Amino acid sequence: MLVYEAKIKGTEAQYRILDEMLRTGLFVRNKALRYWMDNPGVNGMDLNKYCKVLADNPEFPWVKKLNSMARQAMAERAWLAIVRFFDNCKQKVAGKKGYPKFKKLLTRASVEYKTCGWKLSSDRRYITFTDKFGAGTFRLWGTRDLHFYQIDLLKRVRIVRRSDGYYVQFCINHERKETHELTGRMLGLDVGLNHFYTDSEGNQIENPRFLRQGEKSLKRAARQLSRKNIGSKNRKKAKNRLGRKHLKVERQRKDFVVKLARCVIQSSDLVAIEDLQVKNMVKNHHLAKSISDASWSMFRQWLEYFGQVFAVPVVAVPPNYTSQDCSNCGTVVKKTLSNRTHQCHHCGHIQDRDWNAAINILNIALSILSKMLENTVGQTEINASRENDLCLVGSTQLSKPTRGKRKPKEQSLESRAIFGTPN
Ligand SMILES: [Zn+2]
Repeated sequence: MLVYEAKIKGTEAQYRILDEMLRTGLFVRNKALRYWMDNPGVNGMDLNKYCKVLADNPEFPWVKKLNSMARQAMAERAWLAIVRFFDNCKQKVAGKKGYPKFKKLLTRASVEYKTCGWKLSSDRRYITFTDKFGAGTFRLWGTRDLHFYQIDLLKRVRIVRRSDGYYVQFCINHERKETHELTGRMLGLDVGLNHFYTDSEGNQIENPRFLRQGEKSLKRAARQLSRKNIGSKNRKKAKNRLGRKHLKVERQRKDFVVKLARCVIQSSDLVAIEDLQVKNMVKNHHLAKSISDASWSMFRQWLEYFGQVFAVPVVAVPPNYTSQDCSNCGTVVKKTLSNRTHQCHHCGHIQDRDWNAAINILNIALSILSKMLENTVGQTEINASRENDLCLVGSTQLSKPTRGKRKPKEQSLESRAIFGTPN
């Protein structure tokens, strides 16, 4: 699934209609949730049917105005929240299970259309919403890429409201695949506060400057907002300013992270990272920390995405002991967070703390992979017709490890012959 986004331009009156549509979408979602709470045991299909009931209810005349598939899409969102909650309960996730909540209408809101209720002009520069809200035609900004795809590949169209305007997202049913030239490099990455990451070859990427700058301007905008009277026009303006600042930092972060992730994937044949659960990390109110936390989880998502696109395996390893173990001999060397250098008391190995951790991460990933391959190689030999469903290994990598596995056997036979050791 590819997502393209374009800003839409219309009149103030049209924007007010979009606001109505967004409010209605949220209303349907919250109503569907209420229905589930009041009637235990209903499923996703029931919620879909309930949309029709809502639309026919004369008390809520606005629901009928929203396209029927858009109504159902909002009920599906409610159902997704319910399913996520049930999954968390089944898997016994520690802490809060995320019982679905009613949502407030915020600046950031979206409503989703499927294959009807909207129409693109033949030159793909205008979009018209054709349901009973009658929002009319909007000019699209930034849809050059849309020309490459057939209209019937556009499976979903989302209207998104942000602090700086209204956007349309097109979800395109297209799987992106690109060729990867083997580089002979394998990288382990250790993320940290002092640097954005340190890799297993000792290279460090600094935290981008916008993190600091963004932190300052966000703080100032938040302070200004807190000084304005509740309900006043100035408060509304200050809120919008803060929202725009957030958007700016978010976009800078995304730009940085996407380029970096693409670069990392293209320059290596395997990438190992720590399986950090943001949920498990200590919640910290320090702003710079929270911004970099967000950057890391986004970085990981994009690494995994580009890993699929370029068929480069991205392995997440459990984060235990990666910074404590010695990458040279494996001895556990206890150190506190402030201790920046790894100094092994067993083998005398001295290395930067993060560099040592990055090598450990790579080593753990390789041992996990080889264990998985042992299992799958065994299985494929028994059942050759079955498709190999190990998603960690890309197509370019498949043939190599099997060859690699046989070699050691031959070598060991030879070495036995040479050295004449029995057994
Ligand atoms: Zn050591």
